[in-house]
Amino acid sequence: MQKIFQIEVENYLRMCCRRGTDLAKDKRFKYLMYFRNFGPAAGASLEHPHTQIVALPMVPKNALEEIHGAKAYFDFRERCIFCDIIRQEIEEKERIVAENKFFLSFCPFVSRFPFETWIIPKKHSGHFCQDLSGELSALGEILKETIVKMKRVFPNLSYNYIVHSAPINGEGDGEFYHWHIEFMPKLTQVAGFEWGTGFYVNSTPPELAAKYLNSK
Ligand SMILES: [Zn+2]
Ligand SMILES: [Zn+2]
Repeated sequence: MQKIFQIEVENYLRMCCRRGTDLAKDKRFKYLMYFRNFGPAAGASLEHPHTQIVALPMVPKNALEEIHGAKAYFDFRERCIFCDIIRQEIEEKERIVAENKFFLSFCPFVSRFPFETWIIPKKHSGHFCQDLSGELSALGEILKETIVKMKRVFPNLSYNYIVHSAPINGEGDGEFYHWHIEFMPKLTQVAGFEWGTGFYVNSTPPELAAKYLNSK
């Protein structure tokens, strides 16, 4: 397994934030999408590992769905749904993959894909890279730990991860939204039922996935 160095992960995150902060200055952009496709099964178009940042003039449908859900929950409970999820995950412990002072990595309850894992800041924050400077090394640490644990279980793993962050330039603030990274190992194929319905069949309960990831 290729060794992942902490300092490289940190430098990589710093570069992502530097680019994102610069792109956000252009008022035409309403959403920044950061994602990484690793390995052929994940649709990687280049041979070397890489991350892409795409600045969009609109908020994409998938992001909107999650944002609207978070808003509906906030209107009903007057609390951020992601902060509630973090509280519950820490309390139940069963789905945690890694944890440090500032971040939590866990296999979410009712995951869509086997071994789907989210990395989320414990402190409420709507935008990726905002107020992150003091916590960048903690993010690098937990991202590295999550990938190392995944690769221990699946040495030739292909994966995608996507940063979900609040829209920019007046398209919504981060009051009810909470940025996070959705890490999706490519272990199964999305097939007819999923394409047809938008529903997902996951044969690995998140509790079992977390147990495997912590077992070696
Ligand atoms: Zn929150
Ligand atoms: Zn999300």
